[in-house]
Amino acid sequence: MKIVSARYKELRATAMGEVNDALRTFPDIINLGLGDPDFITDDVIINNACLDAKAGHTRYTDYRGDPELRKEISGFYENEYNLAIGDDEIFITTGGCHAMYLALEAILNDGDEVLVQSPCFTPYPDQVRLARGVPIEVPTYEENRFQLREDVLAGLITEKTRALIINTPNNPTGSCFSLDTLQMIARFANDHDLIVIADDIYTSYSYENPFVPIISLPGMRERTITINSFSKNFIMTGWRIGNIVAPAELVRVIQHINENVVFTVPSISQRAAIHALRNRQIQDSVLETYKNRTSQLAKQINSTPNMSVITPHMGTFYLFINIRKTGLSSNEVSKRILNEAHVLVLPGVDFGKCGEGYIRVSCTVSQDNLTEAFERIGYMDIFS
Ligand code: PMP
Repeated sequence: MKIVSARYKELRATAMGEVNDALRTFPDIINLGLGDPDFITDDVIINNACLDAKAGHTRYTDYRGDPELRKEISGFYENEYNLAIGDDEIFITTGGCHAMYLALEAILNDGDEVLVQSPCFTPYPDQVRLARGVPIEVPTYEENRFQLREDVLAGLITEKTRALIINTPNNPTGSCFSLDTLQMIARFANDHDLIVIADDIYTSYSYENPFVPIISLPGMRERTITINSFSKNFIMTGWRIGNIVAPAELVRVIQHINENVVFTVPSISQRAAIHALRNRQIQDSVLETYKNRTSQLAKQINSTPNMSVITPHMGTFYLFINIRKTGLSSNEVSKRILNEAHVLVLPGVDFGKCGEGYIRVSCTVSQDNLTEAFERIGYMDIFS
């Protein structure tokens, strides 16, 4: 009997799965693999969420999410970006990943092509396939600070192109789109009648310029699906909470799909998100820490032979390190770093073909551990 669907007969190992295996191999390992912030969610959020649970917020919520949370989100858009988002344009999800899947499932017809800014968060291409679409990688390059280029986009458009996924500040490159790039994307989307799915999950980590959501640009309101998450902005990865902002017509479809999948999002996580939005000042010290760690590590990297990273670093807590001078592939370099320095980094190629020649490190360990990790790496013959 064949118990597994034909669709899943060739399972590829995921980057995350490989990390788990490596962690068990070396007791002194320094793990720079996963993008999970190394702080505990702020007490204000935890304590207030607990109080809310005790007060009875332990049941299914409204299918579109706790109305109080939707109100906070719409208030957030008003205050931060001067954008009036209607309550019926907001849908609460169990994090950004779930939001992306619901969005793709709601917009794609079989065989529709989705342009994906690359290098990209590893699940995107498979999520497009799960929703019966075809992912098309749109490469970006270090030479122009990983900005999307109009000529590259134009070369990939076909009559099947339905949507474009963008992510700024970006995982894995740490780059942020300039206003020029965002305006080009908005023009391009309007010219080619594309939906833009904006993965806005690192908005608070835009170190040099204030974050501008693409939904706020002319003509974008009706064609943007915004994905927000509390995971990184509020150090809440385990709470699994995020939201979608999209045209009301689409939100209705997303609600229908989700009612048949998870029904509603955990009520206590939704309460926690309300308290996060009401206490946004708690972000400041954590953001400062990540900014300092990334810029300090960038200096250490740029003084190590055969590796380099673009500075000033623009956003997130990731560094995407150019290792082309070693003459080895990103897989080979990552394996050697693991075996010789006991440091776990991810090969750039895991994030898309144009990620070859890079490794990604996540600065989600202490400054001392980051320094030690790159001291160990600095002793390797390929980096000396
Ligand atoms: N998008 C990007 C770019 C990410 O880096 C991540 C998590 N690393 C996610 C989405 C998913 O985050 P979550 O599901 O925890 O909200």
